[in-house]
Amino acid sequence: MDATLVADALSKSFTTGAVRTDVLRDLSIEIAAGELTLVSGPSGCGKSTLLAILSGLLRPDGGRAFALGQDLARLEPAELERFRLQHTGFVFQGFNLFPALSALEQVMLPLGYLGLGDALARRRAGDALAEVGLGSRMQLRPAELSGGEKQRVAIARALAKEPQLLFADEPTSALDAANGQIVIDTLHRIARTHGATVLCVSHDPRLVGHADRVLAMEDGRILADRRVAASRSP
Ligand code: ADP
Ligand code: MG
Repeated sequence: MDATLVADALSKSFTTGAVRTDVLRDLSIEIAAGELTLVSGPSGCGKSTLLAILSGLLRPDGGRAFALGQDLARLEPAELERFRLQHTGFVFQGFNLFPALSALEQVMLPLGYLGLGDALARRRAGDALAEVGLGSRMQLRPAELSGGEKQRVAIARALAKEPQLLFADEPTSALDAANGQIVIDTLHRIARTHGATVLCVSHDPRLVGHADRVLAMEDGRILADRRVAASRSP
């Protein structure tokens, strides 16, 4: 079995004051290596929680999450941190960039943590930024970049690590049409050219044409799971 992400009977609830919300309810899913899977569903149905658990950012209350064959609950915090750094990229709706760093520095940072020397990190970061069309804007800080450019920096940061797993949580929802399209094309290339497994939460209908599979969530469960005849070119 070459499932690269496995959710096995996941459950998760949050308690705020006296109110308990069951966010994931006995959710199981297997995602094959190299596929681009879209997750859709109404706000609050648990999409971000599912991504956070499968990427090791959050622990489930029940059930197990496996990534690349690794039971994430079995990793010590430092090992989990290492695993996430080495094998996963995460692109957030809100970009999560450091205000004081240039685009180049944002992308170089995780490469430094991974132990790449400065020259190699600089070259890889530059290549990743060029790939998302920011080759001439590498010295700019987030405040000097548009929303679309910021999201492309975030994608370059994930891409430069050459991760086997890429998670993207509503990566186009804060962007205009043109920038959204660039982000979509880049995600597509990451899956097709780099062979990464991409799990992406999105309602963007333009992404459906690039997906292998679409999961519809509702109320903490997978309601529908369908294969798409994916277009193989951007
Ligand atoms: P989606 O991404 O589908 O919109 P989420 O997974 O973000 O949904 O959230 C599902 C539910 O869990 C929502 O009702 C949300 O308010 C709640 N929730 C998410 N994270 C937390 C948290 N850290 N503390 C309390 N409630 C949370
Ligand atoms: Mg969400």
